[in-house]
Amino acid sequence: MKKKGILAVVSGFSGAGKGTLMKALLQAHPDQYALSISATTRPPRAGEEHGREYFFVTRDEFEGMIQKGALIEYASYVGNYYGTPKDYVSEQMEAGKDVILEIEIQGALKVKERFPDTLLLFVTPPSAAELENRLRGRGTESDEVVRSRLKRAVEEAESMESYDYLLINDELDTCVREMHELIQAQHLRTGVSSEWIEKIKQELRRL
Ligand code: 5GP
Repeated sequence: MKKKGILAVVSGFSGAGKGTLMKALLQAHPDQYALSISATTRPPRAGEEHGREYFFVTRDEFEGMIQKGALIEYASYVGNYYGTPKDYVSEQMEAGKDVILEIEIQGALKVKERFPDTLLLFVTPPSAAELENRLRGRGTESDEVVRSRLKRAVEEAESMESYDYLLINDELDTCVREMHELIQAQHLRTGVSSEWIEKIKQELRRL
């Protein structure tokens, strides 16, 4: 029986280092994982490319995607829409890849409600001061945007307990290894393996 991929959501405060983590995880296990590319109405940052970091779309285009039911989930974050296109995620899971959605909390909780076997991981820097350093150090955002992201982090911290696991991103390699182990362990959960369980039950009855 072909093993289907699982769905893992990675959230965390803006500036927690999720992007770097994802890159390192995909580099270490290129055949295992597929990273979903979201659609957003936020303008591209320097160095970002359409179809690589995001599909950058207009509000009208985004609302068209909502109406067509083309998104698994979507949310509004600091004044912009962000959403996960459905087709890529289901194709990759069918092909046996573990699909990672790097999305914010409202979207994560919607995905978990729709697909209860989803693994929810929350990434945080070791301290609030470190978060602020990383956000300012990025140098791509205005003071106003940094402040709104920090304010949003205060709200997001309220929902951390809804996640299955917490990953403290202090040392990159350790964090990547922990993330890989947690996602692979999810394959062995009884809920996720229900088809396999059904198969062995039938085989046992036939003995
Ligand atoms: P950024 O603007 O820094 O790239 O992303 C802002 C926030 O939007 C991050 O927390 C990121 O995880 C989240 N995000 C990115 N794509 C999606 C998506 O498709 N859906 C949801 N709900 N959030 C997303």
